[in-house]
Parts: sequence; structure tokens; C-alpha cells
Amino acid sequence: MHVREYKAEIIGVGTELLLGNTVNTDAQDVSLLLSKLGINVYFHTVVGDNPTRLKEAVEIAKIRADIIITTGGLGPTYDDLTKQTLAEAFGKKLIFHEDIAHKIRDFFANRIPAIEMTENNLQQAQLPEGCIIFENELGTAPGCAFEAEGKHVIMLPGPPRECRSMLKICAEPYLKALSQAEIHSHNIHIFGLGESAVEEKLIDLMETLNNPSLAPYAKDGEVMLRLTAKASSRQDAQDLMLPVLQKIQNVLGNIVYGVDTDSLENTVFHLLKERGLTLAVAESCTGGLLSKRLTDVPGISRVFMGSVVAYSAHAKTALLDVPQDLISDNNAVSREVALAMAQGVRHKFNADIGIGITGIAGPETDSSGQSPGTIFIALCSNDHTYCRSPHLFHDRERIRIGGASHALDMIRRLLTDLPVE
Ligand code: ATP
Ligand code: MG
Repeated sequence: MHVREYKAEIIGVGTELLLGNTVNTDAQDVSLLLSKLGINVYFHTVVGDNPTRLKEAVEIAKIRADIIITTGGLGPTYDDLTKQTLAEAFGKKLIFHEDIAHKIRDFFANRIPAIEMTENNLQQAQLPEGCIIFENELGTAPGCAFEAEGKHVIMLPGPPRECRSMLKICAEPYLKALSQAEIHSHNIHIFGLGESAVEEKLIDLMETLNNPSLAPYAKDGEVMLRLTAKASSRQDAQDLMLPVLQKIQNVLGNIVYGVDTDSLENTVFHLLKERGLTLAVAESCTGGLLSKRLTDVPGISRVFMGSVVAYSAHAKTALLDVPQDLISDNNAVSREVALAMAQGVRHKFNADIGIGITGIAGPETDSSGQSPGTIFIALCSNDHTYCRSPHLFHDRERIRIGGASHALDMIRRLLTDLPVE
């Protein structure tokens, strides 16, 4: 089914927004809703409480948008001029609605009896001819929607509570009926290749894609690709995405560690659980970060036996049985020590898999001349030992995150019969 592409512009009305006294949260709320509905927001405009400039902004919006949504300036005071200005810009008269006037009188009498209603409040009962009225559940100023000159115009009140409530109750169904589109996406999680390398592999595909679209995001040494489709139903969106998802998986192969999973640690948890295996961890430079990430996963106690943070050489020997000579002969940051840590912790905790991590998180180079980012991550299972030594860049924080992620990736690979190192 063909889905019409709407372009929307949000016009925030209020001098306080321009002066910086008020943050334009209404625009955020409107934008969030429109994105959810699959309507493209191309512009956020802000104008003061000035009818001439508001009219100018509306004339510009008419040229570049199909849906114009205003916030603010619907109230009773002299500076609330949105309805008058929008009606004028689209050649519409304002019509007095007796039933709304009645509600306003009622609101003052019953909800805020301490405040006397002034006549100017009835101005709020004036609305553009032929509009759909959006009732205000939380205040007196109603909003509205009308169609003119091929454009859809929606006016919402400024107070964020009122704006949000009207968005949900009135604007959402109105816009849903217009767009009839849904947005669905898949998150493809990748470890082992940087963002630009991933992009390079997929550039041909990315350039031909329109719906679904594909966008990469880099975070904490990982890359996530978000594949997003817009269609009239969830099923249609899935049908659009499936062949593209398969293509991406074919191109990237086993560096994709999951689709719609939330983390490497979660992936590892499920794999260990499925295979009925247990894990123990010995950490030096990561200082417990790997254990922290593992224990962020609810239910991990079924597979995670425990960990040792063995920072000093003495701790490595005393707690993990790493031979003193091995450390003095090879340096604490070495393949040999990482392997001995993995073996030691596996043994101590009687686990199926042991991990040992030792490295230099920086920023200083260590006394033996090894530079920050030098790291050894060892994995030891019943019948195999492996050690990875990627060169990690950036700062202390990112080196440690990278070390922990590599360890998780090694476990994942072991458990899915992929090359581990
Ligand atoms: P009222 O009936 O209260 O006058 P209104 O629709 O006329 O409502 P405004 O007078 O423009 O709205 O603003 C009322 C309040 O809402 C002000 O406190 C203002 O700071 C806040 N406000 C207005 N616009 C926004 C916005 N875009 N984002 C966040 N707050 C806003
Ligand atoms: Mg006002």
C-alpha cells in the first residue's frame, strides 16, 4: 500500500521561548508524537507573541509543510493571538461557539471559584470556521484543527500539561487518521568492526534504501544499525524489512551478535543458560567492570559463579594461583598471565569457562614500556584456551569497556562455534 509522506512544521508561539525563559518542551512532545506516527518533522520554528511575525512564519510554513502545528497563544490575554492570526492567514472567519463559552463560565464557577471570570475569557470560544474542536481537559482554552489550502493546521495550548494531554486525546487520533502509517524497526547489534568499516561494507545497500532506511550508531566500541520501515501495518513493515535484514546479515556475517537484543552480556547469558554452562571471571585492568556488566543481567546467578579483581601481582598469585615466576618472567600484562588468570579462576570457582583480563588502561605507559590499550583477554574452557590481544584506543574508560566487551564476544563465539580469537 502506498503511504503518503507528510511534512510537518511546528511553530512555537511565545516571546518567553525566544528570550530563553521557557524551554520549548511542547515542540519536543509534538515531535515525539509525530515521529511515532511516521510523520516527518522538517522544521521547528519559534516566534514571539507578535501577529505580523507569526503571519510571516505561517506563510513560510505553508510553502514547505503539509501539516502546521502551533503551540501557545490560545489563551484569553491580549498577547494570545494565534487563532486570529492563523484564521486570517488561511482566510477563515472566527466563529463564536456558545457551548464552549458555557464550558468556560462553568470552569470558572466550579473548578476555580475563587477567581472571577473576566469577559476576555470568552474570546477563547472563538474558533476558525469549519474546524474540529479539541477540548481542553485541563484548562479553558480549546485547541482545534482545520484543513485549508491543502494544509492541515493544528493549534495546541502552550502550558505543557495541557499541550501533552490534548496531543494524546485529540491530536493523535486526528493525525493517525491522516497518516495511516506505522513505523517499526530492528536494531542490529555488531561487535568487532568500527562504524566506518561497517558503513563501507554496506554503502551500496544503504544508498539504494529508502523504505526501509538504515542508519548506523556507534556506542561504547560497538555499532548498532537501526533498520526502520514505514508502512500501513506492522506486518507490512516487517515484510519490507525482512529481505534487507537478511542481506545485512549475509554481508556482515558473524560480527552481528544479535538482532533486537539489548547487549552482549545478555546474549552471553542466554547462550550459557541454553548450554547449561557456568562462568567465572578474573579481572585486573577492568577492575570488576565485566562482572558488573554480567550482574546487570537479571537471572545471571544461574550461570555466573563469581569473580576476582586481582589488581596487584600479589593478588594474582594469592587469589588465582598465578605463579610468581610467570609474572616476573613475562610481565603482569602478558598472554601468559592472562591465561593463568583464566585457568586459576576457572579452577577456584569450579566453572566451565574462565576469563582472565590483564592490560594497561592508561593514561600512563607502564614501567615495562607497554602503552595504554595493550590488553590480553584469555578464555579457558574444559578443552581449549584462547587469548585475544586487540589494540584498544582512547581513554581509560573506553579501554576498560572494550576489554570487557571483547571477553563477552569471545564467550559468545565459543558458544556459537565461531573462531574465538
Ligand atoms: P494560557 O491559556 O495559559 O494563556 P496559551 O495557550 O495562551 O495558554 P501561552 O500563553 O503561550 O499559552 O503560554 C502559557 C504557558 O505555557 C507559559 O507559562 C509558557 O511559558 C508555557 N509555554 C508556552 N509555550 C510553550 C512551549 N512551546 N514549551 C513549553 N512551555 C510553553
Ligand atoms: Mg497565553
